[in-house]
Amino acid sequence: MSRVARLPCDSGPAAWNELLPPAPSPRILDSHITADWLVIGAGFAGLAAARRLTQLCSGDRIALVEAQRVGSGPAGRNSGFMIDLPHKLTAGNYAGAAAADATQTEINRAAIDFAAGAAKEYGLGAEAFCLSGKVNGAASSRGLAANAAYVRHLESLGEPYELLDAPAMQELTGSEYYLGGVFTPGAAMIQPAMFVRGIAAGIAGQVEIYENSPVTGLSRRGGAWRAGSPSGSVTAPRVILAVNGHVESFGYFRRRLVHIHLYASMTRALTGEEVRRLGGAPRWGVTPSDPIGSTVRRISGTGGDRIVMRNRVTYDPGMETESARLSVMGESHDRSVRKRFPQLNGVEMEYRWGGRLCLSLNDVPAFGEIDEGLFAACCQNGLGTTKGTASGMLAADLAAQGNSPLVARMTTLDQPRRLPPEPVAWLGATATLKWREWRAGREI
Ligand SMILES: Cc1cc2nc3c(=O)[nH]c(=O)nc-3n(C[C@H](O)[C@H](O)[C@H](O)COP(=O)(O)OP(=O)(O)OC[C@H]3O[C@@H](n4cnc5c(N)ncnc54)[C@H](O)[C@@H]3O)c2cc1C
Repeated sequence: MSRVARLPCDSGPAAWNELLPPAPSPRILDSHITADWLVIGAGFAGLAAARRLTQLCSGDRIALVEAQRVGSGPAGRNSGFMIDLPHKLTAGNYAGAAAADATQTEINRAAIDFAAGAAKEYGLGAEAFCLSGKVNGAASSRGLAANAAYVRHLESLGEPYELLDAPAMQELTGSEYYLGGVFTPGAAMIQPAMFVRGIAAGIAGQVEIYENSPVTGLSRRGGAWRAGSPSGSVTAPRVILAVNGHVESFGYFRRRLVHIHLYASMTRALTGEEVRRLGGAPRWGVTPSDPIGSTVRRISGTGGDRIVMRNRVTYDPGMETESARLSVMGESHDRSVRKRFPQLNGVEMEYRWGGRLCLSLNDVPAFGEIDEGLFAACCQNGLGTTKGTASGMLAADLAAQGNSPLVARMTTLDQPRRLPPEPVAWLGATATLKWREWRAGREI
């Protein structure tokens, strides 16, 4: 059996998951089973793949195996923006080539529709999934220029938007920091852990979900794949690998994936008096005009009223980050909250964490049939909530029924481009990130 080289390891708590009541005890893979389908990884991609398989292959035995608890990996560590529009992180203002962006938007919308359908079917409330739109906030003249360029791109794509001036931004956020914003209506805002746990609970009647059951080896013998875990195994003819960057740990796409960490902090619950001082709406989400800037959310619901701040990026080819980094990144989060919300001076952070994200140099996914009966739904680039959902859903389509118009669009994309050798890649990526963070200025 080919050994899986590395298992997922996260830094700090998955704050969104910590806000929720504890999940029931996990079901662990503790025997040797045979299934029609095996999905590995229960993030956005794995859950979408499993749900799609229940729709396409009703009655088949489907196993979903996850190394950790659902909601404790990157799927429970993100900022919860499920965005429909172009979101190229390597661009100065998210915009890519018009034709590619139009196709990506179509795929993203299919994913958001799929997620909305699941949220409705499984009775997830508006806190878990809400089609509310989101705002791209600008805090500097450079940010305003990036937003203006983004608006021109939206116009060329025929996409609706609304411009917000500084008073409108203050009315929304309670902050005088922003000079302007662009509202786009098609994004869903999710409480990520509530969403993925809700989807897992929804499919659990038709999918056997095994948690805390890392796949440590995967090999093909006699026309079937066998995935080994410390106390059991699954044998299945068809497998969907939905492990994002860890597809490289399974031996695929080696030196073709860029592994980075993003960092975030969440305040403690605000008191009633602090909520009054903060002002603004109870729930909103602002992405930065410069993709390297700060993503900010105001949440109100399970766990109370809080601010969630995300900024800073590190390149980590080993797919792990040291816990010590959390305090350095945390100082950056504290500064960004103080600048935006001086009225919250003294409100401390309750949670700080890091999470993995996987990119490719040419902004394409690791998608398709990568070995006989083995399908990849990995490397989501920016926007993994949406693109992960899309790649899982479309990998299931590809595996169960061959082609479809959206599958065809995914399979005609190039393969992820090869990275330069280390330490050249590390030096290049780290220098670029540092320079972009410096250039982002007030947007952080
Ligand atoms: C701080 C932060 C903020 C972010 N904000 C946003 C945002 O606002 N919007 C957005 O769209 N994206 C955001 N992201 C990115 C997003 O979270 C990811 O891109 C997304 O989770 C990818 O989904 P996925 O299902 O492909 O992979 P993952 O969510 O990483 O799921 C893969 C799963 O595979 C499991 N796995 C790995 N190896 C094994 C194994 N050997 N055996 C079994 N299971 C295994 C992992 O435990 C994991 O649960 C953010 C990320 C971070 C860290």
